[in-house]
Amino acid sequence: MLITLKDKFESQKIDIKKLRPKKSYDYCVDKRNDFYNSIFKNKKKLRKMIKTRNCPSCNSKSSKKILKKDNLNIVKCKNCETIFVKDVLNSKFYTDLYKSENYQKIMKKLGNSSHLYRVNRFGKERVEILKNYINKNKVNILDVGCSTGYVLEYAKKIGWKTTGLEINPETANFGRQKRGLNIFQKTINEFKTKEQFDVITMFDVLEHLENPKAAVLKAKKLLKKGGLLFVYVPNWNCAQRLLVGEKNSVFINPTHHLTYFTPKTLQNFFKNFNFETIFWETKGLDLEDYRAYLSKQKKNKSILKNLGNFDIEILQFYINASGNGKNLRMIVKKK
Ligand SMILES: [Zn+2]
Repeated sequence: MLITLKDKFESQKIDIKKLRPKKSYDYCVDKRNDFYNSIFKNKKKLRKMIKTRNCPSCNSKSSKKILKKDNLNIVKCKNCETIFVKDVLNSKFYTDLYKSENYQKIMKKLGNSSHLYRVNRFGKERVEILKNYINKNKVNILDVGCSTGYVLEYAKKIGWKTTGLEINPETANFGRQKRGLNIFQKTINEFKTKEQFDVITMFDVLEHLENPKAAVLKAKKLLKKGGLLFVYVPNWNCAQRLLVGEKNSVFINPTHHLTYFTPKTLQNFFKNFNFETIFWETKGLDLEDYRAYLSKQKKNKSILKNLGNFDIEILQFYINASGNGKNLRMIVKKK
């Protein structure tokens, strides 16, 4: 594909106020640890719930500690360099967490109120990226961890056949009842169907899973030959981590995000399944998040002053193009 002149800047036009309405994002960040903080207080109970895992990509036992955050060790696999949380809580803990009332309140604040904005901003963008790699009009898509169904709603609008999976009852119900979407309250491993899909998407899902390989293996079974798997994960090699450090990077959240990929380690991860990588890029709000961080730390006013809007867009463009944007996107194909 030839690169054409960029007559307008298209780095990452995101309206933060619409995406994160009424301080919902701050609420989400503040409240995210409430659920397990109660568990961490009880050391005996905690020891029973914690288990050590091997590398989620290559299954190696051999790893090197990188840092400890929120009481949990984050390590790097000595064999394949995947970064992951070594000691994780058992699966039931996570399923309970994502179904918990508190988590649902967070999603209600964050997801439902910005649904329509997300349909037209992210749903459209993601479906349009996919269309570059698909040569048919009637596409059968499965969106795993579909939240309120904002990607599905856009796909449905252009005539695709849509199915979503979402374990959070609050968001799944919103998508079903308020938006009329075909959403099941199930994980991909629980989902039973005879259908085969042209496209399966997992946006911000793999990093949450204790066993991401099991989910991808199931996705491979549900894909047609030549079908596409499109994933978004946080990018460990991102500017945000380098600018604000691991302790202040919101995406380094070891109670929720259990695996951290880079463009290289994610491609290696998909080689486990004999998938072919056909597209990847990074995009992010690294500098926007950096600015938000600085504005909370009142001592850094001069750096903040120098970060004008124009500079931020151009600089973020460079960061994205060099593979250091916070969000890593990849499309792989079933051979
Ligand atoms: Zn490994």
